[in-house]
Amino acid sequence: MLPGIWKDFLTIAKEEAGSRVVETWLKAVSLYRWDPETETIYIEAPNAFVKEWIQSRYKDLFQVHLGRLLHVSGLKLIFFAGSEQKIAESTHIIPARKPIAAPGIKNALARRAHNPSTGYLNPLYCFDNFVVGSNNSLSYAAALAVAQDPGKLYNPLFIYGGSGLGKTHLMHAIGNEIYKKNNNAQILYQTTDCFVNEFINAIRFNKMHAFQQRYRALDLLLLDDVQFISNKEQTQEVFFHIFNVLHDAQKQIVFTSDLFPRQIQGLAERLRSRLEWGLVTDIQKPQLETKIAILKKKSAFHGEIIDDEIAEYIARHVDSNVRELEGSLVRIFAFSSLTRQALTLDLAKTVLGNTSPVYKNNDKIDFGKITSHVCKLYSYSLAELRSSNRAKELSFARQIAMYLMKKMTDRSLREIGAFLRRKDHSTVIHAYERVAKIVQHDAELRSTIKALEEEILGQP
Ligand code: ADP
Ligand code: MG
Repeated sequence: MLPGIWKDFLTIAKEEAGSRVVETWLKAVSLYRWDPETETIYIEAPNAFVKEWIQSRYKDLFQVHLGRLLHVSGLKLIFFAGSEQKIAESTHIIPARKPIAAPGIKNALARRAHNPSTGYLNPLYCFDNFVVGSNNSLSYAAALAVAQDPGKLYNPLFIYGGSGLGKTHLMHAIGNEIYKKNNNAQILYQTTDCFVNEFINAIRFNKMHAFQQRYRALDLLLLDDVQFISNKEQTQEVFFHIFNVLHDAQKQIVFTSDLFPRQIQGLAERLRSRLEWGLVTDIQKPQLETKIAILKKKSAFHGEIIDDEIAEYIARHVDSNVRELEGSLVRIFAFSSLTRQALTLDLAKTVLGNTSPVYKNNDKIDFGKITSHVCKLYSYSLAELRSSNRAKELSFARQIAMYLMKKMTDRSLREIGAFLRRKDHSTVIHAYERVAKIVQHDAELRSTIKALEEEILGQP
């Protein structure tokens, strides 16, 4: 149930806060656990910095929408940092020295306002700042060719590939390039979702004619994420006619999709064949070198230079897509700038949450095994660990046990709390955070814990 809710939440958050916020911050955290009894949701951040950032800016967003998705009105949220606690307590969050937001956005908005015919083109997405690698070179070349000679060579151009790999970027680049050459060109960038909504409204308000005219008058139509037209028969029907008019008049059409036309379910055959009429190209995940090149280019854009070593670390750490790669980079810059720390490899590791998920799901490790080793080391009995006695040393041993139980298993905080007879399982989070923090600067405890982990793992 939870993964579905989390996904829905991210979709809503994207609408509300924008995809940059989602990619940079919200995707850095995960929904650790939902406790329906206390109506509490536990959200795990890779470090205290991200935790603070999210807590101070997006708490309401979580509260409102997760609450709604979970059908509770007074949802309680507990944010906690799951791994290293590198930021010293004394580090205060201070205003950034330089803005983290991309420069040029102001211009973009100004230009958008003055030239409504450019639709919603984002001037930050251009060919110049698109890094070409073996994963995207064909799509890049095709997009460039289309921009130089629209309507002639590849019409339509259909770019497909996974999410966050640069399809929308290339699409805007085509629009920007054509606009640069001809300020009067009628260009429209539209997401397919919006197209469907516009169509529905046109029906509702009897504006079909105006709707169709608007599209038929275009010189360039950029229709993003066309897979969303699947199973929408009427929309497909109308679009089919728009397509024919534009294509006959040699007006350029560009589609993107996360699927190859044939893989899009519920697509009318005649429309499908038209999507494939021109050129179909794909974008794959970038390889390491390309990822590093992208990181360097994006850094330069932010007015920063990053070491090869750091770029490589990030590139290896983020495997999913370019959007997430960028999100990680922005997070690292934000961290370095706000805490006034130099951008070092260690800092990058801290920000990206150097957690090793190796222990998760290891079902050979159980609570009994962990507590018995902790008890042996500190000379306590399990009953003492479970007691309400809060003598300093006993408490500490108990916290070590909690820390290891959380770290080495993927059992819930509640289960850990229940095993140790704690009434309130938020003590488990506090214990975990406290030990994680001490481990940071206390080499002796670090090696004690390492030895404990090895013993626990080593036992048959
Ligand atoms: P998609 O539409 O495929 O989901 P986007 O075009 O939105 O992906 O790209 C996600 C982010 O990654 C954007 O900020 C984009 O600028 C960036 N990006 C993707 N590929 C590249 C690339 N090859 N060079 C530079 N930036 C890229
Ligand atoms: Mg896109």
